Amino acid sequence: MKVLLGRAEIARRVAELGAQITRDYEGRGDLVLVGVLRGAVCFLADLMRAVELPTRVDMLGLRSYEGMTGSEARVTADLVDDVVGKHVLLVEDILERGTTVAAAFACLRERAPASVEVCVLLRKPEGLRTTVLAPVRYVGFDIGPEFVVGYGLDYEGRYRNLPEVVVLTEEELTAAGSGADHRRASGTEDTP
Ligand code: 5GP
Ligand code: MG
Repeated sequence: MKVLLGRAEIARRVAELGAQITRDYEGRGDLVLVGVLRGAVCFLADLMRAVELPTRVDMLGLRSYEGMTGSEARVTADLVDDVVGKHVLLVEDILERGTTVAAAFACLRERAPASVEVCVLLRKPEGLRTTVLAPVRYVGFDIGPEFVVGYGLDYEGRYRNLPEVVVLTEEELTAAGSGADHRRASGTEDTP
C-alpha cells in the first residue's frame, strides 16, 4: 500500500479545520457535530478535539446502495438528540458523487436546525460538481480518483483502523478479505 496522507499531514489539516470552524461558529449558539457512521469516526474524533467551542456530538448511520433511480442512501441509525434550532455541522469521510452527503444533508435539513453545513475530510474530483446537492463548506484534502482506505475508510469492512490514508494496490484489493494482515502501512514513521 502507498501512503497518500500520513499522520502528521492529517493532524495538521484537522487542526486547521478545527481553528477555522472555531472562528466561524464563535458566538453563534449551539453547535452539533454530526458524524456519518462508520467512515467518519476517526475524522470526527480528531476534529471535535480541534474545535475550541462548547460542542455537542452525534452520529448518523447511512447506507448507500444502487436503487431504481441511481444511487440512494437510507438512514440506518438515527441521531440520538434533536437538532431543532442548533447549528449542525455534518462530518463525512469522503465526497465522491455526493449521494451520501446529499442524503445526510436532506435528512438533517428537515429537522428545523438553525443551519446545516458540511465538512468532508477528502474530496475526489467528481465531488467538485456536487455543490448543488449540498453545499460543502470545509474540505480537508482534494485527492485523485483512486480508491483510498484507512483513517476510518474501509474496503469490504477492513482497513478502517489504519492511522494513515492509503491507496491499495490492485493485488491488495483482490486479496482483501482473504485473511492477510494489513494492520499497518509499511515504512511510515510519520508521527504528528
Ligand atoms: P458518494 O456518495 O459521494 O458518491 O460516495 C461517498 C461514499 O462512497 C463514501 O461515504 C464512502 O463510503 C464511499 N467511497 C467513495 N470513494 C471511496 C474511496 O476511495 N474509498 C472508500 N473506502 N470509500 C469510498
Ligand atoms: Mg461513508
